[in-house]
Amino acid sequence: MKNHYSVIIIGAGILGSALAYQLSHYEKSILVLEKAEDVSCGATKANSGIIHGGYTAKHTTLKGLYSIRGNRMYHSLSEKLGFPFQRIGSLVLGFNERDDTEIHYLLENGKANGVTGLKILTSQQVRNKEPLVNEQVTGALYCDETGIASPYEAAIAFAETAASHGVTIECNSEVIGIEKEGDCLKVSTVNAVYYTQAVVNAAGLYSDAVAAMIGEKTFTILPKRGEYLVLKRGAGTDFTTVIFQTPTEKGKGVLISPTTWNNLLIGPNAQETQDREDVGNSFEVLKSMYEQAKLSVPSLNLSSVIRYFTGIRATSDSKDFIIGRTQTPGFYQAAGIDSPGFTSAPAIAEDICTMLIEDGIISGNKRIPDFKRNPILLPSDLQPFSQIQEDITLAEGNPERIVCRCEQVREKTIEDALSRSIAINSIDAVKRRARAGMGACQGKFCRPRVQQYIQKELKTGEKVLMPKQKDEQLLAKLRKL
Ligand SMILES: Cc1cc2nc3c(=O)[nH]c(=O)nc-3n(C[C@H](O)[C@H](O)[C@H](O)COP(=O)(O)OP(=O)(O)OC[C@H]3O[C@@H](n4cnc5c(N)ncnc54)[C@H](O)[C@@H]3O)c2cc1C
Repeated sequence: MKNHYSVIIIGAGILGSALAYQLSHYEKSILVLEKAEDVSCGATKANSGIIHGGYTAKHTTLKGLYSIRGNRMYHSLSEKLGFPFQRIGSLVLGFNERDDTEIHYLLENGKANGVTGLKILTSQQVRNKEPLVNEQVTGALYCDETGIASPYEAAIAFAETAASHGVTIECNSEVIGIEKEGDCLKVSTVNAVYYTQAVVNAAGLYSDAVAAMIGEKTFTILPKRGEYLVLKRGAGTDFTTVIFQTPTEKGKGVLISPTTWNNLLIGPNAQETQDREDVGNSFEVLKSMYEQAKLSVPSLNLSSVIRYFTGIRATSDSKDFIIGRTQTPGFYQAAGIDSPGFTSAPAIAEDICTMLIEDGIISGNKRIPDFKRNPILLPSDLQPFSQIQEDITLAEGNPERIVCRCEQVREKTIEDALSRSIAINSIDAVKRRARAGMGACQGKFCRPRVQQYIQKELKTGEKVLMPKQKDEQLLAKLRKL
């Protein structure tokens, strides 16, 4: 029947995308409804990208359970689905007796969660590992299971693979109503009406509002902002691990971490907000976050900062994830997924898939044993600038032509990103897939070129969506700090 699906997933962040990927292995019709113009536009595009070791989330919580399981799935997923992931380890730095007590608590909590690679390091051992760490450090908790990955690249890999294997992904499709109709659930979007046996709520910051549409008013999202600074590619070279501060009652501290593309990430802070779209940044807040980060690495400087951004955590009032069946038959939650939600997503998706099989919605017979996805671009593709310099002047139409100088993105890579299973129409969507515009000039050089490539792929009359401009004066002030 037209517009009838076995399962409808609401939201295409890392959760919705990981679940779509899981479900694409089964012979059923699956639909993902996403209100934004692309997948991974919510918290999934704006977080620290840490695959947490699993020692922070309290033992006995869902966060504790899923973070360790999710962590251990990333290596094979990244190999199969072609997104960058590195298990680089992490340090939680201590500077006083209180921190040392907390570090010992984290060690025991981690062991209880099943984390194996935990060690307490002395001040000297910390500085041997990370020579730029503050010499006042008294010790640290080291975890060799912590990893880094790019959250939006992972979500795109999940969603794209699902779409290549029969899942329908509808972007620009905000869900505005869910009703019971006979044996089905009726899901209304701004554009259409669909019928389904099961709905999975993976709507992030709006998961409480989506649940309330069907009368499930069991939790509230209390949004919490986190701001970041990004230093240009190369700045990550000075560090080999993720450097955390010891959590206190005031917050988890600010981290310093290399990214999989060798940028350096500094952040986040934690600010409660009533406004779920409040992603603005101010010089004062970024400056104070930078000063906090300097406690870990006093020599840190912002001369190569290229970008700032904000992500908003979908923290539930229970402070834990909300996962699984509800009072409404056929309505499932993957809600209140704040940190470590990126880490946990593949394991949560696996369990929701199992519930759908147990409830007779998914058959349980896998149709294809496994999928492999070709990466669009990997860090190992990067070459010394001298080797690619001449390719910048190649003529348009030459697949080897360098379109984005900073990140060495070739015409063939942009064409690849544009020809995959999810249709895209924005400069940011190309940037998340092919990295054009991620570099030091933040797209000043390549944006008009990328715009042309996208325009060629669009239907007549359809316009390329342009990104919001960053405040150059704010960046200039930050570089002088
Ligand atoms: C500052 C910060 C730092 C973090 N750091 C880490 C970290 O280092 N490691 C880690 O593991 N986790 C981290 N997290 C948590 C992680 O980012 C989230 O847990 C994860 O991205 C949540 O994914 P999601 O799919 O649930 O939500 P989202 O990515 O927000 O996706 C929800 C989607 O639902 C869509 N949607 C909403 N309402 C509707 C509707 N009515 N109809 C259709 N679609 C709708 C939205 O547009 C959105 O795309 C961090 C989060 C933040 C904010």
